[in-house]
Amino acid sequence: MDCKTGAEHLASLRDSRAVYIDGTRVADVTTHPAFRNAVRSAAALYDFQARPDNVERMTFEPSAGSRRINRCWQKPRDHQELVQRRQALVAWAEQSAGFVGRSPDHVASSLLGQVMGIEVFRRHGEARARALLDYFDYVSSNDLFLSYVIINPQADRSKAWGEQDEELVAQLVDEDSLGITVRGAKMLGTSTIMANEILVANLQPLKPGEENLALSFAVPMATKGLKVLSRKSYEAAATSLFDNPISGRFDENDALVYFDDVKVPWERVFVYRDTDMCRAQFHDTLGHTFQNYQAQVRLSVKIRFLAGVARRLAETIGIAAMPAVREELGWVAAQAAVVDAMVSGMEAAGRMQDGYYVPNKHFMYAAQVLTQELYPRIVDKIRGLAGGALIMLPSSERDWADPELAEVIAKTQRSPVAAPRDRVKFLKLAWDAIGSEFGSRHTQYEMFYAGARYVSCGHSYRTYDWATAGALVDLMLKDLD
Ligand SMILES: Cc1cc2nc3c(=O)[nH]c(=O)nc-3n(C[C@H](O)[C@H](O)[C@H](O)COP(=O)(O)OP(=O)(O)OC[C@H]3O[C@@H](n4cnc5c(N)ncnc54)[C@H](O)[C@@H]3O)c2cc1C
Repeated sequence: MDCKTGAEHLASLRDSRAVYIDGTRVADVTTHPAFRNAVRSAAALYDFQARPDNVERMTFEPSAGSRRINRCWQKPRDHQELVQRRQALVAWAEQSAGFVGRSPDHVASSLLGQVMGIEVFRRHGEARARALLDYFDYVSSNDLFLSYVIINPQADRSKAWGEQDEELVAQLVDEDSLGITVRGAKMLGTSTIMANEILVANLQPLKPGEENLALSFAVPMATKGLKVLSRKSYEAAATSLFDNPISGRFDENDALVYFDDVKVPWERVFVYRDTDMCRAQFHDTLGHTFQNYQAQVRLSVKIRFLAGVARRLAETIGIAAMPAVREELGWVAAQAAVVDAMVSGMEAAGRMQDGYYVPNKHFMYAAQVLTQELYPRIVDKIRGLAGGALIMLPSSERDWADPELAEVIAKTQRSPVAAPRDRVKFLKLAWDAIGSEFGSRHTQYEMFYAGARYVSCGHSYRTYDWATAGALVDLMLKDLD
């Protein structure tokens, strides 16, 4: 049994999708200088899984279907299968050192969790549940790359979503026997430019009266009326892979997604005019748990990479043996271990639900709260170790082309552990990861992708075992009088 390859993914992106950047419509995302390397990196994930030595680790044979598919679609039936699935997520994340946040396994994980809670959709309506199950079968058996937009665009946060200006928030404007028509926007479609499909939903609470906004559906990226307005491309700004080794390859892109009277057939509508069901779709199913468990698995890889950067940086500028620096590195190492341990903890403290073994929900939210604060602190710690090392660098690889400059570079880019060119190569990697515009976007991403702090702290508050904590307080108060 074979499985999806990178070439297949690239071919699938050559469609009529409407992606816009710098005032023009992109003819082909696989060749455009703003996207081509990121798109290739995504395609490389499929080649990675198709390698004979990786097939077993990365894919499984679904009960129906003629091809093996990525393990992100696999419903774990016990702890061992959850761990096996995680090992595949880790292997994919390692291909970009965790810098591709919305790799294909992210939304697949969300959808998997939603399907595990299909009874929640059945209560909403048998037709909607059927639509979701059929959709899951279609996208999983074809190993499709999904992105999602589940957040409304910021405009005036002091107003409810239903009170925002007309045509801001994506909403139902018409319906007929074939389906619904949607108009308005969603933020922030990360990876949409290189995905096959987009899942639309509402994670932010809606209130009664906002039923026209209360939808969830999925459409192919090449759907008529679907407009993707890309942010600035960091990949396009990368002068070479030597100078921008991460942003030049892994700029997954973010975009405003606008639905210009997009028609969605009923068989792709999962939530229809039900404000509470929008919440239930993620929180009463395992959707939110699995999507954010995947995010923490990916982040554990990224933090491990940053720990590696911190240590290499200290060695490169000759400060690694200083006790005060070792203390800083020890702190970074401890944080990296905490993130790893949280993932293991989510698995070890998981439980059976509806026949599946699922990660511990509160541990997942706890990890989210901790890591959205941790990420900028680790970045700050590395910057603190660096001094001017991340800045005192040749403007670009082209400086070596001039023999006179090359000689000065050779004399000045000194390190106790690396030759001048290797010193520059590493420091450019470090700057790209934490200090460049791309690196800065990543700090913003890790701080916000799962919601602002008040949102993740709210989830943690809601899901903590307060009863057991309170019982301890009562025990200590007992028999005092
Ligand atoms: C790089 C990046 C990629 C993203 N990718 C995706 C994606 O692929 N798909 C997707 O759907 N979304 C995506 N998002 C959106 C992300 O989920 C949201 O940014 C996040 O949920 C926060 O919402 P917001 O941006 O509206 O900020 P807000 O919620 O408006 O928060 C902004 C500030 O206002 C404060 N604030 C607002 N309301 C309150 C309140 N009631 N109480 C206290 N404080 C408040 C917050 O604490 C925060 O400081 C992405 C975001 C980023 C930055």
